[in-house]
Amino acid sequence: MVRQGILIVVSGFSGAGKGTIMKELLKRYEQYALSVSATTRAPRPGEEEGKDYFFKTKEEFEQMIAEGELIEYACYVSHYYGTPKAYVEEKLSQGSDVILEIEIQGARKIKSQFPDAVLLFVTTKDAQELKKRLISRGTEDPDVIDQRLLRAVQESEGIEEYDYLVVNDRLEVCVEEIHSIIESEHRKIRYNMELVNQVRAELRGFSKGE
Ligand code: 5GP
Repeated sequence: MVRQGILIVVSGFSGAGKGTIMKELLKRYEQYALSVSATTRAPRPGEEEGKDYFFKTKEEFEQMIAEGELIEYACYVSHYYGTPKAYVEEKLSQGSDVILEIEIQGARKIKSQFPDAVLLFVTTKDAQELKKRLISRGTEDPDVIDQRLLRAVQESEGIEEYDYLVVNDRLEVCVEEIHSIIESEHRKIRYNMELVNQVRAELRGFSKGE
């Protein structure tokens, strides 16, 4: 019996450590497939095409929208970001749990298209820590950091739309917490109807004296 894949959305403030958490989760467990988004923002040092993002021009991105290649897309701090449809559909059908590391507008679109999707929000233990991490990462100019912090204020207003809050204080604890949330999701009755029906049929057999 192939287990049905679950669609997982992971959002969180810029600098909350989502990327590091995702890398560790994928290293530890084979069941996860991380969707690679398309974006019009420039690659950061060390980022690779097709691994971190598919880096696109604005025209290329708009072409993808026009051709219906994206499940969702959003504008974040002056750039487009979007989730390619094909990979998500393929991996879900193979039984992988597919993770979308996306911002809140995208999360909303996913929830309305896939009501069974699980929405996780990652935060640092306080806002001071967030600012510290964004600055020490050193990948953004001060004005971009300010824009991202401003965006965090807006995103914090939408946290109630998520199913779970995960605090990224210690990486390994956080990764295990996320994994156990997903494993609990798999135990929901609706994902286990094949087994339920089998047990029911067997029980009916007993009552007939089989
Ligand atoms: P970053 O530039 O730091 O890599 O990403 C900026 C924000 O865009 C993050 O909050 C990230 O989760 C979000 N993001 C990345 N890919 C996508 C996507 O495909 N769709 C949406 N809606 N947001 C995305």
